Amino acid sequence: MRSVDEALACVMSMASRGPTETVSLDDAVGRVLAEPVLCDIDYPPFDKSMMDGFAVRSGDAADGATLSIVGQIAAGSWRSAALEANQAVQINTGAPLPPGADAVIPVEKTSVSGDALSLRASVNPEQHVTRRGAYVSAGDAVLGSGLRMGPVEIGVAATSGAASLTVVRRPTISIMGTGDELIDVSDRPKPGQIRNSNSPMMRALVRQAGGVCDDIGVVCDDRRAIDAAIERGLTSDFLCLSGGISMGAFDFVPDALRQAGVEFVVKKVAMKPGKPTIVGRHASGCLVFALPGNPLSTFVGFWLFVRPAIDQFLGLTGVGNRWIGAKLVAPLAATGPRECFWPATIGLGDDGGLCVEKQSWAGSGDLFGFAGADALIRQPANSGEIPAGHSVRVLQLERF
Ligand code: AMP
Ligand code: MG
Repeated sequence: MRSVDEALACVMSMASRGPTETVSLDDAVGRVLAEPVLCDIDYPPFDKSMMDGFAVRSGDAADGATLSIVGQIAAGSWRSAALEANQAVQINTGAPLPPGADAVIPVEKTSVSGDALSLRASVNPEQHVTRRGAYVSAGDAVLGSGLRMGPVEIGVAATSGAASLTVVRRPTISIMGTGDELIDVSDRPKPGQIRNSNSPMMRALVRQAGGVCDDIGVVCDDRRAIDAAIERGLTSDFLCLSGGISMGAFDFVPDALRQAGVEFVVKKVAMKPGKPTIVGRHASGCLVFALPGNPLSTFVGFWLFVRPAIDQFLGLTGVGNRWIGAKLVAPLAATGPRECFWPATIGLGDDGGLCVEKQSWAGSGDLFGFAGADALIRQPANSGEIPAGHSVRVLQLERF
């Protein structure tokens, strides 16, 4: 039996970054960069006015001075003639500064009469001007590899002339449920049956993690059917099974995995829920996660082990589970020899720091009591009661 940290270390030592592909800028949102994006130009690409007003030579622009207006520059146009002494050019926000000018006086600090411009304020050199290359120079890396592309990063790539981007291919993740008792969501359970909630939950988890799901469906507790499903699942980057791994008479999954050539690197983890968890690898490169069918165990196992492996495949920077400290709102009861993971909600305490409250739930089969949780509390093995106000380790559960 491994500790949670040991099991995660095993997972991370096996997971490697996936291959790359090129996608269009619009298709890159949510994807992870496999190469840095370089800006192909200086930015701004020219000396630029940041105001609607008049481009001037700051030395001429004393409060009360009168300058003569010699032209106009709209955004998108250009003036090559240099500004001479006591001249001003009307300029709009975003337009290029004419040669010779070194400042812009905002229109509201002037009055105009024909070609005469009267200044009602002075202006300092460089005021309301951004010089060419002030933000980045041509060739600068503006987005690093390992970054997930959000709307701002899409805008940066567009500014930099990157019409297509090199990203890591999305991993394929086969999922399967096992159990004769499982029926579809749209069916009503007959005696002894329960609805298959793990497959829809795992599909959502895969989507949230940025993977492509191959849903093998529910496989009966039948060795031949399980063998065939595993064979299909091993062609993906990851295979996640739920159920059929405990000590029951119909728990065929571990033997079927072994016979399919899966080498087990983790067998049992000292955690609650999720003790029977198995992690293995196959010669095809597929990483295999066999999680207990109890919906909470499936969720927690996916969150603690599968997600970080997917993040590593994607080459995301800063992968792994990031535990933060938060103060307990209510005490936690003493625990046994396994680390415990409790559904919880995070809030802000009176002192402005993070606080966390365990959700009330009826035990490991109760997924309802997990709904709405935005964090997992991690309670150490063999801990006595932890009083309210004490700090515990917490993992945030990102919401969609
Ligand atoms: P197992 O790991 O197969 O022993 O299953 C443990 C518990 O989880 C049993 O109560 C199963 O009925 C339940 N279970 C297994 N698979 C699923 C699933 N896909 N959806 C909901 N519950 C499940
Ligand atoms: Mg079962």
